[in-house]
Amino acid sequence: MAERAGVVIVGAGPAGSATAIHLARAGHAVTLIDRARFPREKACSEYLSPETVRHLATLGVLDTLDAHGRTALEGTRVRAAHGASLIGRFADAGGSPFRSTGLAMPRRILDATLLDAARAAGVTVHEETTLRVLSAMGPHGRTSTLEDAAGRRHAVTARCVVGADGLRSVVARQAGLHRQGWLKRVAFVAHVEGVTGLGRVAEMHVGKAGYVGLNPLGDNIANVALVVPAALAAEARGDAAGFFHRQLETFPSVRGRVDVARTVREVMVTGPFAASSRRSTADGLLLVGDAADFFDPFTGEGVCSALAGAALAAETLDGALRANAAITTAQLAGYRHARRRAFLGKWIVERLIGYAMLSPRLFDRAVARLDRRGMADTLIGVTGDFVSPWRVVNPWFLGKMIV
Ligand SMILES: Cc1cc2nc3c(=O)[nH]c(=O)nc-3n(C[C@H](O)[C@H](O)[C@H](O)COP(=O)(O)OP(=O)(O)OC[C@H]3O[C@@H](n4cnc5c(N)ncnc54)[C@H](O)[C@@H]3O)c2cc1C
Repeated sequence: MAERAGVVIVGAGPAGSATAIHLARAGHAVTLIDRARFPREKACSEYLSPETVRHLATLGVLDTLDAHGRTALEGTRVRAAHGASLIGRFADAGGSPFRSTGLAMPRRILDATLLDAARAAGVTVHEETTLRVLSAMGPHGRTSTLEDAAGRRHAVTARCVVGADGLRSVVARQAGLHRQGWLKRVAFVAHVEGVTGLGRVAEMHVGKAGYVGLNPLGDNIANVALVVPAALAAEARGDAAGFFHRQLETFPSVRGRVDVARTVREVMVTGPFAASSRRSTADGLLLVGDAADFFDPFTGEGVCSALAGAALAAETLDGALRANAAITTAQLAGYRHARRRAFLGKWIVERLIGYAMLSPRLFDRAVARLDRRGMADTLIGVTGDFVSPWRVVNPWFLGKMIV
């Protein structure tokens, strides 16, 4: 006989922990599981936008994170493949950011801090517990078959299962909601000591095939991320570190700055991405974070979207859980609509940037114009999540960028 629970959340990354915190604070019984033991590493550029910082304050973890004394980021520098460059600063972007700086924050610290906050809010947490099988909707909800580190299995039936299990979401796949994106990229991410020429901005270097992100984490350590098409990444088989180094050296504005001999956290490989879900809800099921939709790392919006999505998910679920009936797709419609309202503009901006990067000449021209016409700060404010995306997604802005 399966154990009974109100909500089971699969995945204790930012999306899962934040959803758990909101629901527990609203008085619901929440079980949060993750296959990892925390603190754990995660392949990510570890850049948090000013709006992400606001979400972290709402979740009550910002003071703890600030106490780690990591770099306050003033904005982003972008270098295009043919030499054009821009620098956008949050403080000059308009809008009303929570803070005029973002944060460079190791995921090892961020994710463990959020998980601790979930525990403190009363969430039941099971680490080293993996979702193996998710049932179809039954009279009491959905049954998750979970496996612990010793290989023991047990079943939990919950009125709602939240899939917060990331890019390769098992929940989304087993519910038939997973959709692989057409643009397949693979990322290689390391922490390297002594990267030269860094300031208090994140750097993005776009090449003819892919891009490199440099993010100053503090303590003279930088996050170095390389993103390349999956076809090129195939060459890395058996020697990820060697491939990583060779590729970094093909970016003129990165060449000679990263001494891989000073790598302090080995190269982690992740992908291929992107992926998205056909729908973010089904009967007794809701997807949040990367499981629902993956944002390309270039704009650094993944964690913000995970936290924003978590707040929307919890709001809808709170109402659905209070109504004493089975949780159907129809009852979760509010979440789908809220996601669309919150993310449509961001999706368009992210996809426009993705397409522009496919043509290095077009991208170079757009970067040069943004810089010359003083529009870079606005774009950085949009990707920093505190300036409305519609300030960029309009004929006037796009026209000035290209023509
Ligand atoms: C190369 C790269 C760079 C990025 N850089 C940035 C950046 O600088 N800034 C930014 O904001 N975003 C960035 N992102 C995006 C960001 O990492 C994600 O959007 C974010 O992690 C999404 O959070 P999440 O909670 O949805 O998923 P995740 O953080 O992936 O968490 C999912 C959790 O689910 C667990 N899990 C998975 N399957 C199971 C299972 N079957 N059973 C139990 N547990 C399971 C995993 O262990 C994991 O802990 C980057 C992404 C990549 C790939």
